[in-house]
Amino acid sequence: DPQIKFSHIVKEYPTDDGGTFRALDDVSLDVGANEFFTLLGPSGCGKTTLLRILAGFETPNEGRVTLDGTDITSDPANKRPVNTVFQSYALFPHMTIKDNVGFGLRMLGRPRSEYDATALEILELVRLPQMAARKPSQLSGGQQQRIALARALAPHPRVLLLDEPLSALDLKLRKEMQIEMKRIQQESHTTFVFVTHDQEEALTMSDRIAVMDHGTLQQVGTPQQIYNRP
Ligand code: ADP
Ligand code: ADP
Repeated sequence: DPQIKFSHIVKEYPTDDGGTFRALDDVSLDVGANEFFTLLGPSGCGKTTLLRILAGFETPNEGRVTLDGTDITSDPANKRPVNTVFQSYALFPHMTIKDNVGFGLRMLGRPRSEYDATALEILELVRLPQMAARKPSQLSGGQQQRIALARALAPHPRVLLLDEPLSALDLKLRKEMQIEMKRIQQESHTTFVFVTHDQEEALTMSDRIAVMDHGTLQQVGTPQQIYNRP
């Protein structure tokens, strides 16, 4: 069975003239456990809206979302084993890297011994354990972004949502982070649902891609299936 199942999702927003705009129109989609799954499409096609529905920041007008067989459509965001990395990944400037990574765990009320151990383990995963005692300003842009990823992974979410996390980076760093994120996804055994409007990025990173346009799904498949077919 798929880990994530969107069934007939409809999301409408009110418009200024008193009507409604359909941002998602009957979207049904399955994502498997430990997949690197990408939502690809032009700006405004509904990618972020679908991600926000999975995170619990939005409720669909129609349809259901299930996670590991459980209907989570009405669960509040903080009750879902789902975490999000946004494009603006601001770290806390006055905290050390280790405390930045442990922050989410502290919020969950875990003891310090546990969040220290987890923070160090996740810093190993992103290959920056030597940075634990530094402040964010002492790290490069790429390193800071890896720390943001580490912070999101620290509570061991089953699903990590990433909304155009690389779009603010220059081309060289972006290529580097594509490879790095893919590695981290595989080694963390976490399902990644990744949003981008960049075809090449989707091709490089994804196990499967869902191509969206105007609130609908156009095609779902592996990069090979997507790019070899007309
Ligand atoms: P994408 O992530 O693919 O760029 P979005 O999911 O952000 O697209 O938006 C899809 C459409 O829904 C866009 O036309 C956008 O303007 C509209 N939309 C998104 N959020 C809202 C909102 N809160 N209120 C009104 N319209 C919205
Ligand atoms: P990355 O590609 O990981 O973002 P850079 O190419 O910017 O890193 O930097 C190369 C190396 O230089 C890094 O791996 C890091 O060890 C070191 N470095 C970069 N910026 C700093 C800094 N502000 N303080 C200490 N070391 C740094």
